[in-house]
Amino acid sequence: MTTTVAAYAAPAAKAPLERTTIERREVGEFDVLIDIKYAGICHSDIHQAREGWGEAIFPMVPGHEIAGVVEAVGSGVTKFTVGDNVGVGCMVDSCRACENCEAGLEQYCLKGNVGTYNAIGKDGEPTYGGYAEKIVVDEAFTVRVPDGISLDEAAPLLCAGITTYSPLRHWNVGPGRKVAVVGLGGLGHMGVKLAAALGAEVTVLSQSLRKKDDGLRLGASHYYATSDEATFEELRGSFDLILSTVSAPLNLDLYLSLLKTDGTFVNVGGPEEPVALNLFSLIAGRKTLAGSGIGGIRETQEMLDFCAAHGLGAEIELIRADQINEAYERVLASDVRYRFVIDTATI
Ligand code: NAP
Ligand code: ZN
Ligand code: ZN
Repeated sequence: MTTTVAAYAAPAAKAPLERTTIERREVGEFDVLIDIKYAGICHSDIHQAREGWGEAIFPMVPGHEIAGVVEAVGSGVTKFTVGDNVGVGCMVDSCRACENCEAGLEQYCLKGNVGTYNAIGKDGEPTYGGYAEKIVVDEAFTVRVPDGISLDEAAPLLCAGITTYSPLRHWNVGPGRKVAVVGLGGLGHMGVKLAAALGAEVTVLSQSLRKKDDGLRLGASHYYATSDEATFEELRGSFDLILSTVSAPLNLDLYLSLLKTDGTFVNVGGPEEPVALNLFSLIAGRKTLAGSGIGGIRETQEMLDFCAAHGLGAEIELIRADQINEAYERVLASDVRYRFVIDTATI
């Protein structure tokens, strides 16, 4: 039997989100039914609800930063029991057989992973995300929220946390490495916390100095405004790694000039427009331009355990469901400190 649950959905592209109800599938053999407590608002929710990344599926229930409590489990579930604190991120399934899935890189599944929302599940039905009271997810795509991280501060880790942790680990960020984080929003603030916890010397590159005190408190040693041209003069050739979390197109040539020889610029931001690049910006200094997408399930669990061990969670502003549309406008205006999280009890 399916379960009817209340949710917030965009009925059409660019339309405001409104309260509705959706059906969750019957709890299958390997499924867990999660009572969602908190859902983070990721900028990707806004890109998709407004069709900034191309045609999308409506009605859309966004939300891929989900934290809650297990309410029921299928007969074959072994990882979880009723009452466990759990999380769900950006994907709820993949082929589980290709070389990337075998390597724990389900986000790069060669057949395409199944998104938590705005996707078609293996049952042929559209998936609906976390702005809802409950969700049914296969245990293989559910992770454990360790004791020591409250569920509200854990929710954003399921996307913002793993999306920054994965590249920082892949490019071996640690003591002695100079890392710049571009954009101090949801992803950026976790990038700063995680890079600092990994032992790197962290610099924030933000549009202004408005959030400087926060940046330093979060773990950065230096903070610069990118609106000031002198910043690019002063910092030329400074960084081993630049992690860009910016949601809009950037002047890549300018940022590449800030790398040391052999440095890497990793982009995780998802601008809606293509960017231009002068390839000489890479040639001079043997630089690398790279991208990274979320992280695999195993690595997501590793990230949560790392956060628990280091006392890290997201800095959040808890909102009611009827404030979602207002929160979207504030995210678009870079007015977020540093993640809006919906208290799903208010749906
Ligand atoms: P966010 O909270 O809005 O943060 C983005 C930050 O970028 C802003 O706070 C702002 O920081 C800076 N920024 C915004 N517009 C800018 C502009 N025109 N020029 C320069 N800087 C600008 O968004 P988020 O949730 O962290 O997501 C960031 C991006 O990553 C989005 O595009 C999202 O879709 C994408 N994303 C990608 C993945 C992945 O797997 N690769 C996963 C999640 C999200 P300052 O105010 O400090 O300048
Ligand atoms: Zn996200
Ligand atoms: Zn696969």
